[in-house]
Amino acid sequence: MFEIKKLFSEEQIARRVKELANQIEKDMDNEEFVLVANLKGSFIFFSDLIRSMERQDIEIDFVSTESYEGESSSGVIKMTRDLSLDIRDKKVILVEDIVDTGLTLSHLIHYIKEAHQPKEMRFCVLLDKPSKRKTDVKMDYVGFTVEDYFVIGYGLDYQEKFRNLPYIGFLTGEYKE
Ligand code: 5GP
Repeated sequence: MFEIKKLFSEEQIARRVKELANQIEKDMDNEEFVLVANLKGSFIFFSDLIRSMERQDIEIDFVSTESYEGESSSGVIKMTRDLSLDIRDKKVILVEDIVDTGLTLSHLIHYIKEAHQPKEMRFCVLLDKPSKRKTDVKMDYVGFTVEDYFVIGYGLDYQEKFRNLPYIGFLTGEYKE
């Protein structure tokens, strides 16, 4: 038997996402920018974030990485989808679901800077889980900070399940497929 303990409700998430969207638009002023989501975990956050923005001229793109097996990072980051837009000399905001060890984000930052030469890169994460951080990554926009739970919902999975929960929580007890 398992239970899902709620950490952040739909309403709390919606309020925070709107604040992040407003802050990003304010900081970008009238400059053009591209928002890039790292799939799959960020897909719901990303779609709510872009729909909370007033501007209609933002460009979007997707990358995809894999590093997790079950509940722990394998430490090896595999890039399974690269950008399709040309972001050279553009301002880019990379959107991530959660930063845990920080290895995925630092790998992505390094790769995108080298391979795609953007003018500037900023990072927006829904959840910051600092307890197991292994690299020094600077995040410009953070939704919430979480304790060392394996969180699910609002796009985040456990064994590819639970992504469609409208809130963010964590599993307790034993989950069997
Ligand atoms: P990091 O490389 O920072 O250790 O991990 C980043 C990736 O691991 C995230 O993009 C996410 O896919 C996954 N991840 C890390 N912590 C959690 C968690 O608590 N829940 C879920 N569902 N995924 C996590």
